[in-house]
Amino acid sequence: MPLNMHRHVKSDGRELLLYSDMPLDVSVGVEIASERGSASHMRWHPLRGEWVVYAAARQARTFLPQANDCPLCPARDGHVSEIPFSNYDIAVFENRFPAFSADAALEQTLPGENVKVATGRCEVLVYSSDHNASIGQLSNAHLSRLIAVWGERVSALRIMGYPCVLPFENRGEEIGVTLHHPHGQIYAFSFVPAQLQRAAEAQASVPVIAQLLETLDRELLVRDESDALSFVPPFAMHPYEIWLAPRRRVASPELLNDMEREALAVTLGDAVRRLDKLFGKPMPYILTVQTAPRGFEDTFHMMVEIKPFLRDVNKLKYLAGVEQGAGVFLVDVLPEQAAQKLRAVL
Ligand SMILES: [Zn+2]
Repeated sequence: MPLNMHRHVKSDGRELLLYSDMPLDVSVGVEIASERGSASHMRWHPLRGEWVVYAAARQARTFLPQANDCPLCPARDGHVSEIPFSNYDIAVFENRFPAFSADAALEQTLPGENVKVATGRCEVLVYSSDHNASIGQLSNAHLSRLIAVWGERVSALRIMGYPCVLPFENRGEEIGVTLHHPHGQIYAFSFVPAQLQRAAEAQASVPVIAQLLETLDRELLVRDESDALSFVPPFAMHPYEIWLAPRRRVASPELLNDMEREALAVTLGDAVRRLDKLFGKPMPYILTVQTAPRGFEDTFHMMVEIKPFLRDVNKLKYLAGVEQGAGVFLVDVLPEQAAQKLRAVL
């Protein structure tokens, strides 16, 4: 699928990429500019063996603006936007309030090897110009384009030198979303986060995902699109958790062929519609696109994880004592029951 991209550099130097199958109107409207904040830094947590990131500049970020002040809607009739174009299909731009930024100039001023400038790149990925269209409402063709954009960004950021790239979406105010316009984000890390390193090492020693797909109990299946499947993992950590995976092992979305990308797009829209139907309201969730960190390209099987945060109508799943204190997840819905309900809901 050809993916036309128009590159625009905003007045503050941030990059904006517009993706569309149609010719783009390149007229530039009124755009939001940032004052580059102070660089964030990270400190090593010696007990967890993980970095903790301090990003004080993010406290100032836009918080739940009214729809007519939405910074992700196209710039029309003087509307001030992050995206100063009258229309677009999918847009990606560098976050105005990044947790990580490319500025490594402060490195020498920080004490010790357990403190580092948080270098990296944070991008916002706007799913469409429609203020209300979540993944469940976008067409399969549009979702296929979204998966292609995930792949294009993962590939581009890896070429820029980042060893690990995570596209994700936090959906719902329950998860702390600060803008309602449906969008995801992409973090490119200067290191491989410990959790992702562990998962990649597990896949390197045993082809976990391929084995899971081969031996999957039909009871756990949500949708079978032949080239891609959605299912509840038998070891789900969240109630109604859904994983989406291409049947063939590819390390990252840009390596999917057209058929596989289209099949994955069908399972993606379908999964979100089922989750939204489950309790009759938009499901808050965390969606992550798991792609191979550097060095694991030959063994990693990419997938999409959707972790919902409602366990019942008006009952939030909290990560509480045992989850936070011991890393042990308590789930009150059996994966087989969750899959059965998800299959029956549409
Ligand atoms: Zn909007």
